[in-house]
Amino acid sequence: MQRNIFEDAISRLDTAFADANVEAEVLEQLKHPEQILEVAVPVRMDNGALRVFTGFRVRHDDSLGPTKGGIRFHPNVTREEVMALALWMTLKCALVGIPYGGAKGGIKVNPKDLSKLELERLSRSYIQRVADAIGPQTDIPAPDVYTNAMIMGWMMDEYSSIVRRRTPGVITGKPIPLGGSLGRDDATGRGAYYCIKELEKKYNWQPSNIKVAVQGFGNAGQHVAGLLHQDGYKIVAISDSQGGIFHESGFDVPSIVKMKNETRRVQAVYCDGSVCEAVDSEVISNEQLLELPVDILIPAALEDQINASNAERIKAPYIVEVANGPIVSNADSILHKKNTFIIPDILANAGGVIVSYFEWVQNNIGLYWTESEVHQKLKQIITAAFHKVLDIADERKLDMRAAANVHALNNLQTAIKARGTQEYFNMG
Ligand code: GLU
Repeated sequence: MQRNIFEDAISRLDTAFADANVEAEVLEQLKHPEQILEVAVPVRMDNGALRVFTGFRVRHDDSLGPTKGGIRFHPNVTREEVMALALWMTLKCALVGIPYGGAKGGIKVNPKDLSKLELERLSRSYIQRVADAIGPQTDIPAPDVYTNAMIMGWMMDEYSSIVRRRTPGVITGKPIPLGGSLGRDDATGRGAYYCIKELEKKYNWQPSNIKVAVQGFGNAGQHVAGLLHQDGYKIVAISDSQGGIFHESGFDVPSIVKMKNETRRVQAVYCDGSVCEAVDSEVISNEQLLELPVDILIPAALEDQINASNAERIKAPYIVEVANGPIVSNADSILHKKNTFIIPDILANAGGVIVSYFEWVQNNIGLYWTESEVHQKLKQIITAAFHKVLDIADERKLDMRAAANVHALNNLQTAIKARGTQEYFNMG
């Protein structure tokens, strides 16, 4: 039988545990999410019919602070997936040193099938069902796959009416006028970009010689591609859930972002103002994109894209995991043998939750920062985490994923130990 995604995530943690030198009960605690909520989410559809969707909210571990993590709307959402994503949030926050535990939420739905009004009712209905589990000091949701700032705004509104008090700190990734933070929108892509800039320095890269393929063109994929393109990197392949495009000499990323946002499709175009023309390109599939002979591969879509069946064919020497969990554990040893350098998800995509943390802090103190302050603080935190992981990897001869997990486990251990573990209680 195929292992489920949560078990797969735990098996990686078992491997890290062997390297981490932390007490067994740290691992024991992390294997069991604190709270798993499954809710029925009723929605009155535009045609008058009632539909009931299934929603989840998993609070994984709050040793380091209130739990934090996005809400995704996707037809393939499952309980195990949300559990794995919540565990990764715990590790992510611990790794970059922000005072949060991990959580995640999801609704099993294809949001593309819903009207805007149905989407609003769905978002509000979900909050009515999970309101007792969330709160600015307990659990703070945010956007994830197929959710956005407007949805966060509706959710904040709904929560505020339930508790009869305006509560911007209950959710992050909100629209700016509703208490959002400047710089939250591109934060996930920007965090990955700052990590890549450190690699650029380390290896003395000339951006115009570096070919990049980006799988997934949602919020994170668009921004990381845009920032790299601005610096002269060649973005030679881009895809979305429908398929992809490839051109050896690279695309004009802002034109493709513009078309994607107007037509919901990735198309090979060059736009001068509002006039867009088709440019040369080859149509490729998502699977083909992953196997292109590029320098940097950026999976920025969903989990389980690279596994034992295609890992051997991956040619990129650098992979930056902007999606959560794009590489399954059975691909690890194959990529390791090929010497692929991987910036793991809990580091590469931590920019989102880091700026969510800034948003929450700003909501709590009622004082708002400029965009450049946000960029600078984000750069500082993620660059420091990147170097910490690199140092651990070098010192202990680990790959970057193992090193990131080791560092996260060590940070979690400090908080778990501070409350006493077996060692403390046995001392009598
Ligand atoms: N959904 C994002 C993630 O996976 C952001 C979470 C947040 O901002 O809380 O990291």
